[in-house]
Amino acid sequence: MKVALVGIGKIALDQHVPAIAASPDWDLAATVSRNGAVAGVESFQDFATFLAARPEIGVVSLCLPPLPRFDYAEAALKAGRHVMLEKPPGATLAEVHALQTLAAERGLTLYATWHSRMAHAVAPAKAWLADKTVTSAHITWREDVRKWHPGQDWVFKAGGMGVFDPGINALSILTEILPAPLHLTKAHLEFPANCETPIAAQLTFSGQVSADFDWRQTGPQTWDITVDTPQGKLDLRMGGNVLEIDGTARAGQNTIMGEYPALYARMAELVKARHSDVDLAPMVHVADAMTLGLRRQTDPFHF
Ligand code: NAP
Repeated sequence: MKVALVGIGKIALDQHVPAIAASPDWDLAATVSRNGAVAGVESFQDFATFLAARPEIGVVSLCLPPLPRFDYAEAALKAGRHVMLEKPPGATLAEVHALQTLAAERGLTLYATWHSRMAHAVAPAKAWLADKTVTSAHITWREDVRKWHPGQDWVFKAGGMGVFDPGINALSILTEILPAPLHLTKAHLEFPANCETPIAAQLTFSGQVSADFDWRQTGPQTWDITVDTPQGKLDLRMGGNVLEIDGTARAGQNTIMGEYPALYARMAELVKARHSDVDLAPMVHVADAMTLGLRRQTDPFHF
């Protein structure tokens, strides 16, 4: 199947282009980006021009930041294209609901991807927890924003989500593996004096579940989730890629290279079946944190 990649920036080049190139299902037939391009692939700078020029490309994969993404997704669905969304699926919940309605009305696939759910150890962790009672859980997601979003001003502008841009990856794993739903009860958010989005957040959920997100960690990076049960302690390390039970490695490998190939394999299944896959649970918790959270101002941030 032919796919067009839209928004040729960091994640498109790091992960989408290699995943499509390695896929038996997909042919990268065009790109749309104001400045970016992929060598050897026809490129467009304007989305409307692309939609009119290449009607036989039935699928578009949108790698833009969340704020500008809705207009592209809406235009693609109205033009009869199936749509794959980078995470987070939108800037607001309501706009994603609007896309769901549009896709359903037209019999098109809408796939809101969560790449971290495809990490090696997430499915084994979910299977291990399925018959357990969770007594508490904690997320520690601390990384260096300068390393992962070099110079990307949009992450600190309203709609860019700030530290929830990586934090929502942790929440996508947690909401996938826990056997019961949870809801936010308390949040503390730290906003740099010169930024519109938080650089750190501490969250408390129902059921003794908590999370610590911080974008100021230099040196070793931490993407860990610990879940306590009467039957033992589960640790998911390295962003869901390594599973330990009571300190003993059980599954996974320390690499993220499988996540995007798995997303494109899933998109191929969905398009063939004319199904959609849109789970907004991780984004609901982020929206709740922005609604409920106590806000504290902290030091200005500069890249
Ligand atoms: P990025 O490099 O800053 O942006 C991707 C491209 O989108 C840009 O190169 C730009 O291309 C286009 N773009 C930016 N703002 C736009 C606007 N206002 N209107 C139209 N096009 C615009 O961002 P990214 O890091 O790839 O992240 C994109 C998405 O992927 C985000 O939702 C992010 O959460 C997700 N993601 C990122 C990473 C990561 O490691 N960075 C990992 C996983 C997921 P042109 O200038 O050529 O139009």
